[in-house]
Amino acid sequence: MAGTEEQVHGAQAPAAGDAADEFAVRDPATGEVIAHCPDLGPEAVAAMARRGREVQPAWEALGFAGRGRILRRMQKWVIDHREEIIAVIRSETGKTYEDALIAEISYGAAAFGFWAANAEGYLADEKVRSSAVLVKGKKLLVRYRPLGLIGVIGPWNYPFTNSFGDCIPALAAGNSVILKPSEVTPLTSLKLAEGLRECGVPDGVFQVATGQGPTGAALVEQVDMIMFTGSTATGKKIMAEAAKTLTPVSLELGGKDPMIVLADADVDRAANTALYYGMFNGGQTCISVERVYVEEPIYDAFVAKVTEKARKLRQGAGGPGTADVGAMTFPPQVDIVERHVQDARDKGARVLVGGSRGDHAAGSWYEPTILVDVDHTMTCMTEETFGPTLPIMKVRDEEEAIRLANDSPYGLAASVFGKDVKHAEAVARRVEAGAVCVNDALVNYSALELPMGGAKASGLGSRHGAGGIRKYTQQQAILVTRFAMRKDPHMYPYSA
Ligand code: NAD
Repeated sequence: MAGTEEQVHGAQAPAAGDAADEFAVRDPATGEVIAHCPDLGPEAVAAMARRGREVQPAWEALGFAGRGRILRRMQKWVIDHREEIIAVIRSETGKTYEDALIAEISYGAAAFGFWAANAEGYLADEKVRSSAVLVKGKKLLVRYRPLGLIGVIGPWNYPFTNSFGDCIPALAAGNSVILKPSEVTPLTSLKLAEGLRECGVPDGVFQVATGQGPTGAALVEQVDMIMFTGSTATGKKIMAEAAKTLTPVSLELGGKDPMIVLADADVDRAANTALYYGMFNGGQTCISVERVYVEEPIYDAFVAKVTEKARKLRQGAGGPGTADVGAMTFPPQVDIVERHVQDARDKGARVLVGGSRGDHAAGSWYEPTILVDVDHTMTCMTEETFGPTLPIMKVRDEEEAIRLANDSPYGLAASVFGKDVKHAEAVARRVEAGAVCVNDALVNYSALELPMGGAKASGLGSRHGAGGIRKYTQQQAILVTRFAMRKDPHMYPYSA
């Protein structure tokens, strides 16, 4: 069984002086405790930070080629050990085999390969030309210097993808990393830490600090930069804490991703995408389909298609090919989903499919749920639900759809469906979001060349692409004057 006490041996023991506290990790499908992890206090985190700083220069000195070799080895390790990793991920998240394979293993393996191959391209010294007289003939460079020690704080929905998607470029850039995984899902990080050790990452370069909120807060105090993925509320707290030491932060936060279905859309494609990416990972995905706006002429056909398919979805915790939707990872999230559905019902919405926790004897579950007759007085349309619900709203025209899509504090991702792709793209460009897909949704996360980040309350900075690795570095300007230069415009105005 995944998530045994044995795997927890990779976790750092609490330092002397810290209360030797532990926290329990549960299998969401059954509610059973599957492991205990150390709940590290500030002293243990400080000791890890000292260790990380000690070993960072040697890691940086390995260069892009040396680090790249290790990261490529890790890509192979992930592929070779995928079944074991999937078992660990599933034991602590409750997700289906397919969700773990597609969005965790495939992404994770690709990310190790991508950053191994591309870190140097993004971070190699850049020659600069200048028209300034004082620097004429001199060598001018921009150098991307690793910041030193990076703290990564992760959420529970994708314990591989969302934490390691950030740790890998930070390592590739030459930094040491301390990862504080979510207390709900720490076992995946410990399993992957084993792999990184086996593949040759030197001791102390990558460390996992298990613990709860206060462990994350202690990490913020110790590092040169914080990469946080999680809720907007926690992101604000972290930014306020980091401001005290002027520690830079990058924040990937919550979302309420809209899908707009225009009157000329391919109904089958739009309905399949809405259902798949609304239910993917049990709806617990930051970039997702959280709400749908459909133009009047095709509303009935769209709802009929989604409803017919949603009724056939299989929910469970069995092996490959047995379930479409898994359990919900974090039990309090089920309460939020239940509250949103109840609020919608109270205000006149109709539940066409699902709408309850189902008849599971134990564990945290919520049925795939389709809601109609919804509007923006309901929390299911305005607050992040983060569960297997798909509220669908009829709109008069695209102006109303765009206005409602933008009527949100969030701006993570969005999608627009329409056969006239030029027109659909024009609509997409008017949506306030970090990413917009036309006739697709969510797949932008797999293109590691594209920035992935949020507008408005969905975040600050981005992962992936140039920005996704340069944020772990400091831009250093280098100017070299060569003595052989005959026309050095060096000025010395003093008479002395
Ligand atoms: P959360 O904010 O409750 O917790 C995230 C992490 O922060 C955990 O590791 C937690 O222990 C830690 N933490 C809590 N309080 C802290 C503090 N004061 N200082 C430092 N660390 C602290 O979020 P969650 O419930 O684990 O994750 C779900 C949320 O994450 C959703 O809102 C989802 O949209 C968001 N998310 C966003 C993205 C993205 O890329 N934008 C990706 C995945 C999840």
